Amino acid sequence: MTGRRALFLDRDGVVNEDLGYVHRIEDFHFRPGIFELCRAARGLGMALVVVTNQSGIGRGMYSEEDFAALTAWMCARFAQEGAALDRVEHCPDVAPSRRRKPAPGMILDAAAALELDVAASVMVGDRRTDMAAAKAAGVGLRLLFPNDIVEVSDNCPRTIIFPVGSSLALAISFLSAGSGKSS
Ligand SMILES: [Mg+2]
Repeated sequence: MTGRRALFLDRDGVVNEDLGYVHRIEDFHFRPGIFELCRAARGLGMALVVVTNQSGIGRGMYSEEDFAALTAWMCARFAQEGAALDRVEHCPDVAPSRRRKPAPGMILDAAAALELDVAASVMVGDRRTDMAAAKAAGVGLRLLFPNDIVEVSDNCPRTIIFPVGSSLALAISFLSAGSGKSS
């Protein structure tokens, strides 16, 4: 497959601190290094794509409109930081579905819309489900920045795992090595 490389990002726990079902601007705190990482990816010509499970919508904790408002604010902040996002995919489902991670649907849909080279792309997540979705989609390089050590297990084959609490900027040096075959 040819196309543009992408940096796929989970949202809660990667873009922002995972406080649980974040849906208000006042609860949205960007994680250390996220803008540096995204600027570096853009510098390499990579697309920036957020893929986020939002079962809080399906659970009735907040609405699609709440999510859209927060996403608009988030996208504006990325743009201000010189790291404009190309796409945000979200899944409101509570039950397992084609798009809800660990399924690969959100990644595949973004890849089709933006004509991305998935195998040459990179996924950054904080949970095993992020890594599983990326693996199922065929994302060539998977980087796990766990916020909880329980997310680290043998279920993360061929995944680079960073110490709990690491700055996302540590991923920068891996971006240019993202091309290659998936496994
Ligand atoms: Mg997460």
